[in-house]
Amino acid sequence: MQTIETFSPEETFRLGEKLGEQARPGEVYTLIGDLGVGKTVLTQGIAKGLLIEEPISSPTFTIVQIYEEGRMPFYHFDVYRIGDLEEMEEIGYEDYFYGQGLVMIEWANRIEEILPERYLEICIEKDLEKGFDYRRITMKEIQRRG
Ligand code: ADP
Ligand code: MG
Repeated sequence: MQTIETFSPEETFRLGEKLGEQARPGEVYTLIGDLGVGKTVLTQGIAKGLLIEEPISSPTFTIVQIYEEGRMPFYHFDVYRIGDLEEMEEIGYEDYFYGQGLVMIEWANRIEEILPERYLEICIEKDLEKGFDYRRITMKEIQRRG
């Protein structure tokens, strides 16, 4: 597990950028954190690191937003509004989860059952005692037993 502290949105963005630069095809990242904590900021950094120029928005009305212009495809999932796993089947999630792009899943705990065997879990938390712009970002390699 790795813990990184940031003290501004720019720092979180730059961490994302580094992750995007290092990402390899087929990797899956899950992103956990309350509203307003910086999930979108980090995701925008990742997109930059993947050399995606298109602006990243939250996939509000679609479960997955696809960006194909970067150095590998970027599949940005937000499964907050998912009703059941059938919806994931319908969009053909396996093609993305086991494909050649980088997968990022917000609210991944809602689809825990279908997460792949290995993924990187990224958590962002505030700690108001350390300041309004402070964020603790932990990254944990998850390896589930089959
Ligand atoms: P989420 O997508 O998790 O709901 P956003 O990324 O949209 O959150 O918003 C995070 C907000 O917090 C932005 O307004 C950003 O400027 C602010 N912020 C303050 N400090 C930080 C920090 N260290 N890292 C990321 N965002 C920060
Ligand atoms: Mg967001």
